[in-house]
Amino acid sequence: MLIGSYDFSLVLISLCVAILASYTALDLAGRIATAKDAAVPLWIAGGAVAMGIGIWSMHFIGMLAFSLPIPLGYDLAITLLSLAIAILASGFALWLVSQPQMPLWHWLLGALAMGAGISSMHYIGMHALLMQPGIDYDSLLVGLSLLIAVAASAAALWIAFRLRRHTPFVRVARGGAALIMGLAIVGMHYTGMAAANFPVGSFCAAAGKGLDGGWLASLIVIVTLAVLAIALLTSVLDARMEARTTALSSSLAEANRELTQLALHDNLTKLPNRLLLEDRIEQSMLKVTRNGGHFALMFMDLDGFKPINDAFGHHVGDLLLREVGQRLRENLRAQDTLARVGGDEFVLLAELSEPNDAVNVAGQMVTLVSQPFQVGEHQLRVSTSVGIVLYPGDGDDRQTLLMNADAAMYHAKGAGKNGYSFFETSMNTNARNQLQLLHDLRSALEREEFCLHYQPKFDAANGQPIGAEALLRWQHPERGLLAPDDFIGLAERTGLIIAIGDWVLQQACGQMRQWYVQGYREWRVAVNLSALQFCHAGLVESVAQALALNQLPANCLTLEITETTAMSDADASMHVLKQLAEMGVDLSIDDFGTGYSSLLYLKRLPANELKIDRGFVRDLEHDSDDAAIISAIVALGQALNLRIVAEGVETLRQQDFLTALGCNSLQGFLLGHPLPAEQFMQAITEAQVAATIKD
Ligand code: C2E
Ligand code: MG
Ligand code: MG
Repeated sequence: MLIGSYDFSLVLISLCVAILASYTALDLAGRIATAKDAAVPLWIAGGAVAMGIGIWSMHFIGMLAFSLPIPLGYDLAITLLSLAIAILASGFALWLVSQPQMPLWHWLLGALAMGAGISSMHYIGMHALLMQPGIDYDSLLVGLSLLIAVAASAAALWIAFRLRRHTPFVRVARGGAALIMGLAIVGMHYTGMAAANFPVGSFCAAAGKGLDGGWLASLIVIVTLAVLAIALLTSVLDARMEARTTALSSSLAEANRELTQLALHDNLTKLPNRLLLEDRIEQSMLKVTRNGGHFALMFMDLDGFKPINDAFGHHVGDLLLREVGQRLRENLRAQDTLARVGGDEFVLLAELSEPNDAVNVAGQMVTLVSQPFQVGEHQLRVSTSVGIVLYPGDGDDRQTLLMNADAAMYHAKGAGKNGYSFFETSMNTNARNQLQLLHDLRSALEREEFCLHYQPKFDAANGQPIGAEALLRWQHPERGLLAPDDFIGLAERTGLIIAIGDWVLQQACGQMRQWYVQGYREWRVAVNLSALQFCHAGLVESVAQALALNQLPANCLTLEITETTAMSDADASMHVLKQLAEMGVDLSIDDFGTGYSSLLYLKRLPANELKIDRGFVRDLEHDSDDAAIISAIVALGQALNLRIVAEGVETLRQQDFLTALGCNSLQGFLLGHPLPAEQFMQAITEAQVAATIKD
């Protein structure tokens, strides 16, 4: 036998190459597992080349490390064939571990195929020596080398499959696994080499013709290291890029989520907005059509929100809305949707097992809102009016449902607020009626359909008349005599109130002029001003004109503005009121006690009179709170040097009570109803005659 020897530095290099090739293979397997579909074949192909060259060059460097006492060379074609086998086996292995699952039989077959590939690469590579008369193989060692090849492949496949996902210590684990795999591959190679015996007299037919040792070793080492390094670098960089892309796309998804949240939710209360509500309504309708059942839409509008907003400012108003939204939301059932659809408007979409359940849900909402709210240092009270529609029944599409719920809500407001109304078909007619009314209102002035009724005011102490309040009426051609509550709101919303208000001023002053001429020089006529008139720049001018045209002393005119109007923009009010006061016009704060007055402003307002709201007077006899409030208002008025008028006096007991409490003047149905001017005078005269007879 020829005695072979090894160049140990090359053996060491071959081991390093094996380990590096193993590491690259594991990294690529991981890369393939997370790559996008289209990129997978490319990664497998590129990976197969890199890994094949790695394994093959380990083998070839191992061959170059071996020398015999005869010159050696390698046949080029056969050597290239062995390289091709290495690449194919690598490709197969990479493909196998890139599959989503690896059942047992896949694994075993794969290990066999890969082991066979590596072994054939090795033995075909040995054959490239073209030894004559041939290599004498020790069958036991060959068998052992085959076994090592298959076992190493099995281990490699298993490890690569396990480590393909990114786990916390994946790099360290891959390093360890690469070491074991490298050792196994090297072990296989050198066991195969040990199996080869070269009989004495053998010679190498490839020597001198094919590839030669020496410089070839360095070249292969360099090329291999370069290929592996490039493969590894590409894989690592690409993985990093992918990680960055993933991070980017997840932050994009997050941004998208936020945008949708913004587009579908109300910014102030974070409740769903109209858009999302409409979508939910559609879904609920579909669900009911498919599975049966019912749902209710409840349109809620806050009562008394505007005065709070005006008195405390938008900031407090906003906070209150948020509190209301929060309280309602906390009491929702999971299947219900609460949306904010406008200023102080909320809509609840409630799934019901029975249509009757709507009563409980609506009742609960009304009760919840009626409890006081703590906003900063203010304790605020509002209530809500709820309009309810049921599906199926009250509309076939979401617009109709919402519109009808809105109409029902208006009905609830009309019925005294702080409650709910179920929709009825007649309510829709109401909406149409309003439209018609608006149309008629536009021409009412020209057609002279307005008139004034006068309600007398009396001195509380001696019962003498001291003037009258002018109250607007509209003689509608079809609907008969309409009271202000039926149309003032409409006139305010359309701005028509300015022209109507000027007419009232003129008319009332004209009437007062007549009384003045008749000798009632101490009387005053009271005219109500709406908020819009009060803000209008021409008000002072209009008042001056009405007085001048009718040659009336300013002192004969009282202007009544509601407490809410006076306080809504207290500084602006102060300015207008001062101008009016300088003219000598008498000023009265109407409906006092219903708004939120700041005592500080009240003190500075140049008002002459406070009119206690008739709500307090009404319950005076039954509610001791109201009596307490009235005496407080009287005390306040006295302290601020204001006259106190009580309106809405309907019973003798109220009259006595209010007189005893210290009210200066009284007004109410008990003492006189609002009447047209002619009847007014007649009624007063009769009353005075009656009083004199009684005396
Ligand atoms: P207001 O200024 O508080 O006027 C008093 C209202 O109470 C009048 O209703 C009057 O008819 C009613 N009233 C008087 N005595 C009694 C009573 O004993 N019991 C009850 N239950 N009610 C009584 P009216 O005429 O329907 O006016 C309602 C409101 O419309 C007025 O409230 C006022 O704010 C407004 N208004 C009336 N005329 C005008 C006007 O010319 N311009 C403006 N801007 N508003 C007006
Ligand atoms: Mg009034
Ligand atoms: Mg009033």
